[in-house]
Amino acid sequence: MARTKVNQPINLDEYKDIWVIIEQREGKVLDIGLELLGEGKKLAEKVGNKLVAVLLGHNNGDSAKELIKYGADKVISLDHKLLKVYTTDAYTKVISDIIFDKKPESVLIGATTIGRDLGPRLAGRVGTGLIADCTKLEIDETDGKVLQTRPAFGGNLMATIICPKNRPQMATVRPGVMEKADYDESKTGTIEEIYVKLEDKDIRAKVVDVIKSAKNHVSLTDAEIIVAGGRGVAGKEGFELIEKLAEKLGGEVGASRAAVDSGWIGHDHQIGQTGTTVRPRLYIACGISGAIQHLTGVKDSDIIVAINKNPEAPIFKVAHYGIVANLFDVIPEIINELDNDEN
Ligand code: FAD
Repeated sequence: MARTKVNQPINLDEYKDIWVIIEQREGKVLDIGLELLGEGKKLAEKVGNKLVAVLLGHNNGDSAKELIKYGADKVISLDHKLLKVYTTDAYTKVISDIIFDKKPESVLIGATTIGRDLGPRLAGRVGTGLIADCTKLEIDETDGKVLQTRPAFGGNLMATIICPKNRPQMATVRPGVMEKADYDESKTGTIEEIYVKLEDKDIRAKVVDVIKSAKNHVSLTDAEIIVAGGRGVAGKEGFELIEKLAEKLGGEVGASRAAVDSGWIGHDHQIGQTGTTVRPRLYIACGISGAIQHLTGVKDSDIIVAINKNPEAPIFKVAHYGIVANLFDVIPEIINELDNDEN
């Protein structure tokens, strides 16, 4: 039975376990699910709870077994042909039904396109709050509540938010911020198959077809090397130079919001607070000033190299190596050196 009033008092002690909603595309578990299992395990251990992966899709068998190896104590498998492709109605219905039934203490969802659609709808349906776009999760040692941290006020400060009166505590978490759970072949756990009651009429918006974007997929979250360009790159032609260097180094191309907003490169390349969070081994920022909203997305890079003609640019405060120069002089020189090394 749905709780209708958000402020209706509930017995917090009835709520147990940390749930991770696992997202699959074409039957493959997305990395964000594994990142949330890694983080969820730490939280679950601190409060003595179980870590539960909630898997939605069709023919879930192999994925469910994998999730146990990635640390889930239990997998709740919701298997139905109408769950093969994401729809807001179907996913909200089946997940909210099991939340009402099983009462998890926390529910973690990836802040992917799907998660950003599902999270608020689900929170509204079960009558709890949602902390969106979290970059850090911790347990308050005094009362076991989850401390959920996210950038606030345009990224100028980090806000830590709790959900004191309602359950579950629900958060969406940005991909690429947390470390993936370790794979342990010997790990055992239980898989609970739940009968899914779902009919066509439960889904108001029908997915007629799934058409993949023709452009190459940008995989910034997994990239080991990223060469990123900002407003200093000065146009689409400038980005050809960035692309050339990235290709030479076997890396991906990133961008600041200024470059994306100028229409020089697509939004899927944007790094930062409203783009992707990355953690490569090497991040080369070219013509990027280092605004806080950009740095939020790159601060976990192992090595940051900045190329900027302004020695006062804030990027130099976080860079491990700084090159004060015109990028149009320096990048061709670097490419030349790499060519010489190859020959
Ligand atoms: P600028 O700040 O204009 O810097 C350009 C730099 O290039 C300068 O330092 C200049 O010295 C240098 N330069 C110019 N010519 C050359 C040259 N020839 N050679 C070398 N150096 C040169 N920004 C993001 O990047 N990602 C986000 O996700 C993001 N989210 C945001 C969310 C909110 C709510 C807000 C308010 C802002 C957000 N921003 C984001 C925007 C952010 O505040 C900055 O405006 C943006 O990052 C600036 O981009 P930039 O460094 O490329 O441009």
